[in-house]
Amino acid sequence: MEASLTARDRVGIQDFVLLDAYTSESAFLDNLRKRFHENLIYTYIGTLLVSVNPYKELDIYSKKQMDTYMGVNFFELPPHIYALADNVFRTMQSEFNNHFILISGESGAGKTEASKKILQFYAVSCPSTKLLNNVRDRLLLSNPVLEAFGNAKTLKNDNSSRFGKYMDIQFDHQGGAVGGHILSYLLEKSRVVHQNHGERNFHIFYQLVEGGEEDLLRWLGLERNCQHYSYLVQGGCAKVSSINDKSDWRMVQKALSVIEFNESDIEHLFGIIASVLHLGNIKFVADVRGYASLNNNQEMHWVSKLLGIPAQVLQQGLTHRKIEAKAEEVFSPFSVDHAVYARDALAKAIYGRTFNWLVNKINESLANKDSSRKTVIGLLDIYGFEVFNVNSFEQFCINYCNEKLQQLFIQLTLKSEQEEYEMEGIEWEPVPYFNNKIICDLVEEKHRGIISLLDEECLRPGEATDLTLLEKMEETIGGHPHFVTHKLADQKTRKTLERGDFRLLHYAGEVTYCVVGFLDKNNDLLYRNGKEVMRQSKNAIIKHCFPSTEPDSKRRPETVVTQFKSSLVGLTEILMSKEPWYVRCIKPNEAKQPGRFDDVLVRHQVKYLGLMEHLRVRRAGFAYRRKYDIFLQRYKPLCPDTWPNWKGTAAEGVRCLIKHLGYKPDEYKMGRSKIFIRHPRTLFATEDAFQVC
Ligand code: ADP
Ligand code: MG
Repeated sequence: MEASLTARDRVGIQDFVLLDAYTSESAFLDNLRKRFHENLIYTYIGTLLVSVNPYKELDIYSKKQMDTYMGVNFFELPPHIYALADNVFRTMQSEFNNHFILISGESGAGKTEASKKILQFYAVSCPSTKLLNNVRDRLLLSNPVLEAFGNAKTLKNDNSSRFGKYMDIQFDHQGGAVGGHILSYLLEKSRVVHQNHGERNFHIFYQLVEGGEEDLLRWLGLERNCQHYSYLVQGGCAKVSSINDKSDWRMVQKALSVIEFNESDIEHLFGIIASVLHLGNIKFVADVRGYASLNNNQEMHWVSKLLGIPAQVLQQGLTHRKIEAKAEEVFSPFSVDHAVYARDALAKAIYGRTFNWLVNKINESLANKDSSRKTVIGLLDIYGFEVFNVNSFEQFCINYCNEKLQQLFIQLTLKSEQEEYEMEGIEWEPVPYFNNKIICDLVEEKHRGIISLLDEECLRPGEATDLTLLEKMEETIGGHPHFVTHKLADQKTRKTLERGDFRLLHYAGEVTYCVVGFLDKNNDLLYRNGKEVMRQSKNAIIKHCFPSTEPDSKRRPETVVTQFKSSLVGLTEILMSKEPWYVRCIKPNEAKQPGRFDDVLVRHQVKYLGLMEHLRVRRAGFAYRRKYDIFLQRYKPLCPDTWPNWKGTAAEGVRCLIKHLGYKPDEYKMGRSKIFIRHPRTLFATEDAFQVC
């Protein structure tokens, strides 16, 4: 007895539902901390998995570990991400329906690592045939490619995802992984041309310059020196000790070949990456009339060569804007500032569109053409909540996305759980929780939400500025409890704000946004002749990315934030049609260090992730529920009175069955259409008995 007490004292409790002082935040934190210091980074709240980033390699992801967790009842072994993955897989198999795993947590909390572990588990552990082995490899290797092009070092995370990713893994009825599909969300393109101090551009640029073979670099006209490229040095940290660009380059090369990129794809792809670097080095000087002209043609010639665009056309495109005056075409010269702006816009457009092309290409290679019915497990790994010293449009979009996901979590767990009890007539003590819908509305409500106001200002070119946007927000939503500006700061939060800032009180904390650049980034204008120049390209990828069928900018394209909003609506629909599972990731310290558990930081995350509320709902609630007819159908062989046929109603049959099985009164409740079972182990015992019979 004593020995087991000490063990429990030392390693804590593996399911918070079993915690005695389950309403106490300190007890919650103590348990998490205890386990963290024993390298036990996983803890359950029922079937939800809490994961604390260890910031060090743990020996818990071997093939042997995978085998241990494969096909074992969820609560029999210590908590693990593999146990969750296995549980999802087996539920999918037995119920033949679709699932998704929502992985959330702030930047650097371990979401991407968690999603990789899950994918690896499926790729390695699921039944497969020789034929499918290449699907598996492609599923696995899609990761290093997308990370190379879509991840970057930020102040929060050396490998921060700068795009959102939703990946479906498709399984056939035998449980083999037979295909996949990836949806990507809003890549942070601005990083291509600008990085804040302490941050880098996307990994692939450094990988190419550091790892690219001599011949390749010569062919691309690149020097093996990141310092030479102005798009790579703005953050002042081209080299990072935790990143090995050379070996990552080799990995990406291998991955590209497995994902069926042929030589010409690869040639065109790196032609583009190099062109972006050359573009960044193109400098402009003012000619005698004050207009922009190139001060050195060399870089421009490399772009022209690599993209297959006549030098004349390119040069014209970089220094002039085409204006249509009546039937005539007139070229109006840029000022130097304008030219720099147009150059950067072009670089961002090229990179952003190439990224989309890459995702499509990977999807082609993951596609399963066989039309037999499949079930899917979706993995959602999206950029986490972010707060920097200076927060801009990008953080606004990222944090808005996190609000939406939190709202989805609330709807699917706290709210729906309580509504279901009500509907089923189960006695229930309501658990209060903070509903962040009020913040989602503040951002996205029609006509008066921030997105609407932003779009409205984008429709008034020449008149509107970032500051008029701020004024408009003050007028329209100044009274909102989650919105603060300079004028209102002292009254609401007693913290001052700079003139060009506004502050949102997000569910996860306060973020102060600097409004400068909002209009511009939301418009994401590419001068029309920029597109036209690209259409002349002989580079197959660019040709594909800038099709001649693309409508010209006569009709306004949707703004960035509005496109993002509709893609999030689409994502919500995809998720709502599937069964949810959750991994909540926690960041133990801001220093990215192992062994450090910062109480204040963790407490804050426990709070905003809604873990305490979730625990209370779980604890007061029932882990499992089944419709009477389904429950009876499955388990009726366990009771002589219900087998082989039960004549009465399904509910009466279930009552008879569980009486026979000896369920105790506090282990279950009978609702209107379902039986509710408090602890999973009750159901597992029944399931075990069923397997034996
Ligand atoms: P996020 O996607 O939430 O921003 P990542 O998954 O990229 O965060 O994790 C950030 C870093 O933390 C990783 O690069 C890795 O160094 C470390 N890390 C995260 N999860 C684990 C884990 N399970 N084991 C070891 N290190 C981890
Ligand atoms: Mg990530």
